Amino acid sequence: MNCFGVIFAAANLSKLKLKIVMAIIITDECINCGACEPECPNTAIYEGADDWRYNDGTSLKGNVVLPNGKSVDADEAQEPISDEIYYIVPDKCTECKGFHEEPQCAAVCPVDCCVPDDNHVETEEVLLGKQRFMHPDE
Ligand code: SF4
Ligand code: SF4
Repeated sequence: MNCFGVIFAAANLSKLKLKIVMAIIITDECINCGACEPECPNTAIYEGADDWRYNDGTSLKGNVVLPNGKSVDADEAQEPISDEIYYIVPDKCTECKGFHEEPQCAAVCPVDCCVPDDNHVETEEVLLGKQRFMHPDE
């Protein structure tokens, strides 16, 4: 490959990287200030030890099949993901796609502990699909 080929390939790779995004996770550096919770447009953030539901802050009701193929009862209380600190439900987090240009939790967190979740890598299209699924009227 000549040098133009290398530059072209690198440009394509960086374009591809821009499309790969992921849910946000709260690390154990969280100080439980609660600033992030009201900012989430998907109600994906919960206080430690609180139950969560798919129907909280969404249009989901009853038995639904999520875009990822998982069957859930949207009205059923789910076990907390953390008992100690605020946590984010990956199935509900769209990295704010469809609502904001940047993750609102990360924007307000005073200790920068809302970070990309390497275990939940999704494309922008998938995240927008989740947003439309949870909020079909918006
Ligand atoms: Fe909610 Fe946006 Fe943070 Fe995801 S990135 S938890 S959608 S505020
Ligand atoms: Fe924790 Fe940051 Fe949310 Fe405060 S804003 S509760 S420190 S994740």
